[in-house]
Amino acid sequence: MDLIRLFSDIISLERIVSKSELLDKYSTDESSIHFSQPLIALLPKTTEEISKILAIAYNNDIVVVPRGLGTGLSGGAIPIKPSIIISTELMNNIIEIDTENMMIVTEPGVITGNLQREVEKHGLYYPPDPASLDSCSIGGNVSESSGGPSAVRYGTTRDYVRGIEFVTPNGTIMHFGGKVRKDATGYNIKDLLIGSEGTLGIITKLTLSLIPLPKFKYDMLIAFDSIDDAINGAIIILRSSIKPSTIEFMEKRAIEAAKEFLGNEMPVQKGEAHLLIRLDGDNKNEIEERMISTSEIVKQLTGYEILIAENSTQQEKLWKGRRSLHDAMVKMSVKREREDVVVPISMLPKLISEVHKLEDIYNVPVIAFGHAGDGNVHINIIKTKNDNGSFDKYYNEMIKKILETTVYLGGKLSGEHGIGIFKKEFMHLVFTEEELELQRKLKMVFDPKNLFNPEKMLP
Ligand SMILES: Cc1cc2nc3c(=O)[nH]c(=O)nc-3n(C[C@H](O)[C@H](O)[C@H](O)COP(=O)(O)OP(=O)(O)OC[C@H]3O[C@@H](n4cnc5c(N)ncnc54)[C@H](O)[C@@H]3O)c2cc1C
Repeated sequence: MDLIRLFSDIISLERIVSKSELLDKYSTDESSIHFSQPLIALLPKTTEEISKILAIAYNNDIVVVPRGLGTGLSGGAIPIKPSIIISTELMNNIIEIDTENMMIVTEPGVITGNLQREVEKHGLYYPPDPASLDSCSIGGNVSESSGGPSAVRYGTTRDYVRGIEFVTPNGTIMHFGGKVRKDATGYNIKDLLIGSEGTLGIITKLTLSLIPLPKFKYDMLIAFDSIDDAINGAIIILRSSIKPSTIEFMEKRAIEAAKEFLGNEMPVQKGEAHLLIRLDGDNKNEIEERMISTSEIVKQLTGYEILIAENSTQQEKLWKGRRSLHDAMVKMSVKREREDVVVPISMLPKLISEVHKLEDIYNVPVIAFGHAGDGNVHINIIKTKNDNGSFDKYYNEMIKKILETTVYLGGKLSGEHGIGIFKKEFMHLVFTEEELELQRKLKMVFDPKNLFNPEKMLP
């Protein structure tokens, strides 16, 4: 089938990527796994173009994989079967910032960090802040139900999506929700689409709610003599009235890796583990009181307050370290597996201690960091230069043990990166066969020919 000819009536040739060297980018995401190149990649600019492309693809039984900016870590945007990619990268306009209703209407390809900065110019705040915020798209965030450090106080992407325009696999344009903060009208399809990992259709427009921008923010970097104390400190702070907006946890080896990656000293080197805590609000004195309460809590543990960052330069330095951890892990490893599990916060100490036991059993380094404030940790199984063969022999077994332990502790396979290709074989740990079958049937309602991002998420 001449695909270029098929679609060139809808979008111009310069927005149809067909050269092998250019298609390489569309054959993987940040998980760096390759199956095969897509047949072509289409770069539409409007919902109508997407609708027409999908209608043609549907009628010709062509497999479609939607894509944002390819920063996904679970392989959702990777073509497995011979497929066409529909990338939203050129749908990158903010349509409206409605200050009266505190809403933003946007195309899906807008970079999340740009969206945040634009609304801040109006004194408004869009809190979800994945560490990839300067390279991922808002449509990708909604499709993955992404979160970030500030989820502790402000919630994840899901909590801000009020309306979705969406095109079904056969090309029908639909709208769910709108500029309303409550909606009890019909089935909640909007929430079904959030986190559906591009398996049900393409999101083409989003209405997101905003909140007033807090006037002040302070960051505290606190070092602890043990990982247990750091995690317990996080839990005590969460249960107090301190109301942190972030509580990020980093164990010592993660901090050392960030130092190595950034090529300079991290602000603090002491301790076995750090917590990076942000406190924000509109009243400086009240925030200072919350900082004092935080210090009192950590002093009862083996924590010592090391650094308070009050201005944006100091804060940027701290957060640069935290946000570099993904790349730092990549740099320190020959190969790496990562998990993104989430457990009830009371189970976090147990989870961390169990995954560290695996390190001794299998003689493979396991490094943890992440969002202690909401029980979501990134667990990295590392193959180092000095690996004696243990990694390749045992990593599958280690992944299975981590996921089984997580579920045993009442947790879930993914807190924010999604299931995609890599975790779908473990979905039976969380769902019964009947629960999985219900989800497969739902997928078939949207996509009866199973042409839309097939073989993702559901086993
Ligand atoms: C360094 C680094 C740090 C990260 N930190 C975080 C973090 O803190 N929190 C977090 O949650 N994630 C994090 N991620 C993962 C990733 O950035 C998020 O999953 C992000 O939401 C993906 O957005 P994207 O635009 O790159 O989507 P892509 O990778 O292009 O796609 C992701 C999935 O969404 C689907 N999709 C994309 N756009 C659409 C659309 N318009 N309609 C329908 N389906 C669509 C795709 O089919 C795919 O299944 C990180 C990644 C990296 C590399």
